[in-house]
Amino acid sequence: MIFLDAAATTPVRREVLEAMWPYLTGEFGNPSSHHGLGEAAATALAAARATTAKALGCRAGEVVFTSGGTEADNLAVKGIALARRAADRHLDRVAISAVEHPAVEESARYLQRVHGFAVDVIPVDRYGQVTEEALADVLGPRTALVSIMYANNEVGTVQPVARLAALARALGIPFHTDAVQAAGWLPLDTGTLGVDALSISGHKLGAPKGSGALFVRGRIRVEPLMHGGGQERGRRSGTENVAGAVALAAALTLARDPARDSAERVAALRDEFIDAVLAGVPGAVLTGHPTERLPSVASFCFPGTSGESVLLELERQGVICSSGSACAAGSDAPSAVLLAMGIEPEVAQTAVRFSFDSTITAEELQEAAAAVRTAVGSIRSLGTS
Ligand code: PLP
Repeated sequence: MIFLDAAATTPVRREVLEAMWPYLTGEFGNPSSHHGLGEAAATALAAARATTAKALGCRAGEVVFTSGGTEADNLAVKGIALARRAADRHLDRVAISAVEHPAVEESARYLQRVHGFAVDVIPVDRYGQVTEEALADVLGPRTALVSIMYANNEVGTVQPVARLAALARALGIPFHTDAVQAAGWLPLDTGTLGVDALSISGHKLGAPKGSGALFVRGRIRVEPLMHGGGQERGRRSGTENVAGAVALAAALTLARDPARDSAERVAALRDEFIDAVLAGVPGAVLTGHPTERLPSVASFCFPGTSGESVLLELERQGVICSSGSACAAGSDAPSAVLLAMGIEPEVAQTAVRFSFDSTITAEELQEAAAAVRTAVGSIRSLGTS
């Protein structure tokens, strides 16, 4: 099997499993307990927080551990917007890009539906990027929060986050970025990016599902979504997932190891794969930005097929990929991300995403490109007979 669906999830890395194992077994304490076992867990949690903070270029107190990317996005979008409006009732608009993950989009829609906010959707260009002009057009004195993802999960397009965040900052508007797909591939220094909040998820970079974190800059208030024992400085109640936090910190450390040149290596393999697919499949269209894209994502439309039939045929040949995001898998509706990029609905229906982790090899991708050629060819010939 050649696994080309790493943007959906990744296996837990051995080093990560070894780092978290003690906190699932012998050192199983609750960090709030006042005995030795509890204190050991609290110490491990503090160390994981310090490591995560180092990876994000922030203070330990600015890291909130969550159950993953979805919760981090919800806490950022709802928590910051609600806290700001509580302080100033005129702050009743949120701005999000047209290509956000549902965790951001649906959080904004919830604010609209339940709390009466207006949602400004920032359009993207044909590569899926937000321009500074498009962002400037929607920002105003009532904007409580801007949320624009760092890298897109369907097409891999990377946003000019530092430039966009600077624009919001100049107007005093907090800027959140969903860095779930960027983590492990792109620099995450929150100071350089100039963002006020940033979400990451463990299972995209070799930690288990159900681990993640939100960075929130110290001066930004957050209305909690979870109420209870006041853990995470009152921003996220609930007994902490110590093993998950330790795993996330270990995965971030592995991703940052300067001895690993994986982003460059994988980007070169991605480009070879893109060239092989475009050369081998007549009419294939690369979706997303040609250069400003994640090293790990190659996404295409194959007009004259359906994305789902290509997936099935590829799986028969041992290549696992997806038609877009894992959340939309199985849905017949064309991807909202592709439609926002101006792709026609019937072409958007033919989308296939290939995404890899740092273990990918040139041989695997050559084999996969050959399988794509065969799969698309056979579907097209069946479709026209
Ligand atoms: N944001 C993006 C861009 C994602 O790709 C995903 C997962 O697919 C999420 C958020 C949600 O993260 P999680 O699966 O940890 O809830």
